[in-house]
Amino acid sequence: MNTQRKLEILADAAKYDASCASSGAQRRDSTSGTGVGSTGGAGICHSYAPDGRCISLLKVLLTNRCIYDCHYCINRRSSNVQRAAFSAQEVVKLTLDFYKRNYIEGLFLSSGIIRNADYTMEQVIEVARSLREDYDFHGYIHLKTIPEASVELIEKAGEFSDRISINIELPDEESLKTFAPEKNLPRTRKAMGKIRHKIENAEEIRKERKGRNKEKEGTFATGQSTQVIVGADDSTDQTFLRRSDDLYGNYKLRRVYYSAFSPIPEPSQILPIKAPPLIREHRLYQADWLMRFYGFDAREIVSDAQPNLDLDIDPKLSWALRNRQIFPVDINKADLALLYRVPGLGVRNAQRIVKIRRYSAVKLEDLIRLRVSVKKVLPFIIAANHHPAKLEDASEAIRARFAPKPKQMELNLFTPTVENPADHFTGSPLGKVMS
Ligand code: SF4
Repeated sequence: MNTQRKLEILADAAKYDASCASSGAQRRDSTSGTGVGSTGGAGICHSYAPDGRCISLLKVLLTNRCIYDCHYCINRRSSNVQRAAFSAQEVVKLTLDFYKRNYIEGLFLSSGIIRNADYTMEQVIEVARSLREDYDFHGYIHLKTIPEASVELIEKAGEFSDRISINIELPDEESLKTFAPEKNLPRTRKAMGKIRHKIENAEEIRKERKGRNKEKEGTFATGQSTQVIVGADDSTDQTFLRRSDDLYGNYKLRRVYYSAFSPIPEPSQILPIKAPPLIREHRLYQADWLMRFYGFDAREIVSDAQPNLDLDIDPKLSWALRNRQIFPVDINKADLALLYRVPGLGVRNAQRIVKIRRYSAVKLEDLIRLRVSVKKVLPFIIAANHHPAKLEDASEAIRARFAPKPKQMELNLFTPTVENPADHFTGSPLGKVMS
């Protein structure tokens, strides 16, 4: 199999990993001789570097052969897909070739499990080692690690990469037993704990050496992340958000990626037939954002009584409507933490309001200048020239203003065929069969 075909297979297999998303752009090709440029560079996706720059990465698997049988994964051993494998040196060469052509600035490398976890990790590490040591590659490297691999190997992976990640895939032990019987949550958490210590130690060393000549020693990935699959099992949003809370708090993860389950070719029978609504993934990201940047606790966003997020409105508005007694908030007096909780006020605008009010009382005009969504904040704030007239405005009325308008349901679920118009009149979804 030639390298191009391998790349097509292994880049396609890697697209299900959302911890570095966006391999889905439309392909344009100039290899026929007309036009200039091509988006057909399989496996190129975008990610964000630690300093916030958007960078393009070669996102690929070392192999899609795997001895595990995770039900949600297209690469599981019982899946009937075409298999391919790169050698470590083939990936090194591809990365360097793409880099020299200015297609990419880094590499995102994952792999199915070949032989065993340690052997696979050794192959993945060899790619990163060779890039760094043999070719002095300074580009970005993100390695996906395998929790079952030995701690020494996971640490080694961190030494050659900028970011490492371990996918926990499903948020609790029970779901993992059903959908990924070879995986184990405590083992994953243990590996994450070790990585956290290594990252913190490396940070200490970097701080101590700041300003001095500091090559190799003390280098380690600057962050770890993970991915969970949403909608493959019946876990609630509460389970997902509590798990994320735990991962951010106890393991200092940089990011948890929520990837809506998408039905795969040749699916396992225990998987749902339909994908969950994409809006669920979006709401989870919004809730996650509230926990990371707005000081919310998972228990405030979802509860035992309401374990799933409201899909019609964003989680901050939903929380504010459940806690109307806190509002309206006087934006000229409230502390920053409370301003963060006002629907329609982002972190940066809340901070700007605190600065402005040192010099003059904040009015609605100031909010307009800051491009705040005035329609959204009005029911929740007091400003120098505004006091919500109708405090009695029911939460339901506010919710209705922001929720999508109800739609007429489709009536023609079973359209008659021209050949068989009688189907239309049977009154049965199965048409003539039941008549
Ligand atoms: S270990 Fe990874 S590649 Fe293998 S089946 Fe599970 S999710 Fe897929």
